[in-house]
Amino acid sequence: MTMKSFEQQLQNKRDNNQYRHREVLQSPQSVRIRLNGKQYLSFSSNDYLGLANDPRIIEASIDALRHYGLGSGAAHLITGHSYLHHQLEDMLAQHTGRSRALLYSTGYMANVGAISALCGKGDLVVEDKLNHASLIDGGLISDAKFKRYKHSDMENLEAILSKSVETNKLIVTDGVFSMDGDIAAMPLIMKLAKKYQADVFVDDAHGFGVLGNRGGGICEQFSLIKDDEPIIMGTLGKAFGVFGAFIAGSENLIEWLIQQSRMYVFTTAMPPSLAAASIKSLEIIQKENYRREHLTDLITFFRNEVKKIGLSLMPSLTPIQPIIVGEEKKALEWSDYLRDHGVLVKAIRPPTVPIGTSRLRITFSAAHSKEDVSTLIKLLAKLV
Ligand SMILES: *Cc1c(COP(=O)(O)O)cnc(C)c1O
Repeated sequence: MTMKSFEQQLQNKRDNNQYRHREVLQSPQSVRIRLNGKQYLSFSSNDYLGLANDPRIIEASIDALRHYGLGSGAAHLITGHSYLHHQLEDMLAQHTGRSRALLYSTGYMANVGAISALCGKGDLVVEDKLNHASLIDGGLISDAKFKRYKHSDMENLEAILSKSVETNKLIVTDGVFSMDGDIAAMPLIMKLAKKYQADVFVDDAHGFGVLGNRGGGICEQFSLIKDDEPIIMGTLGKAFGVFGAFIAGSENLIEWLIQQSRMYVFTTAMPPSLAAASIKSLEIIQKENYRREHLTDLITFFRNEVKKIGLSLMPSLTPIQPIIVGEEKKALEWSDYLRDHGVLVKAIRPPTVPIGTSRLRITFSAAHSKEDVSTLIKLLAKLV
């Protein structure tokens, strides 16, 4: 594509209702936000536990700013690996029941950095078709043979594994699928992995902090407690309300990533104050069960009420509750209607989701009240 043809391509996007633009947030992330000068009740963040603006976490971060300053000033392997980073890694290892954890600056980098360090020429990466873009990119740049199986289709996965000739095989899956909200069939995936001697990598961006009794995520939920079975990627920017990500697994896995993962080696460490914030956030996540319990109540309430008004839901038990609308235009109209009535729900369109499955992606937070959910339901009822 030349620069000149961008104009035509951009126009195509407008014509297809696929054009995207950013809006300016003028308040902290929360369920009540100020966006583009207007106040909204929002169902559009990944701040599942309502921690993004928690005063205790902010305080911990300010404290760290005073002691450790602002910038980390270097990569982890040079002089950027502070005491706080180290402490957070130890805590994350303990929380996930793994031997070690390794911080990355973002989840995107953790996925690409880990998959491309674990697999290369002559290996096989097998991914669920609905995996997050960063997992797909990790598989693609790894140079391994790259295959995708139909969403959560274990027969399809087995067919691929049984035909493979590669010795090193890595099965890669989202824990909670980010646009559908359903959960990967981890026990079945682990069973197939064992049968075909493959490793498993699970991206728990939306489950970590939310699933499991103590917020240990999808592996706690399914009692998957062995070091690299599976390898875990978790993010700190969603339920944690902070920023960053990590990989958790065995001693050898983490040492290998430290030597070999380009997205780890060749980048500046996150500011130590963010590590301090995540330490505080983890303490809260472990202690305050009522956040997860309240969230579960809201999800159950929402699903019951939505069925009453005749809208169909996806089989999701997580805070991600999409309503499939179909065409891009209709999804935008529905989203606009809600917005005109003070409620923010984003329309998700291709290429983020397959054509014909444009949707309202509703996400819940422990900071929502039942009344907030009722407000949303009442408006949705007018759209049916
Ligand atoms: C958000 C997300 C990521 C990326 O994490 P960041 O820390 O935002 O870069 C990776 N995987 C999934 C499934 C996600 O939803």
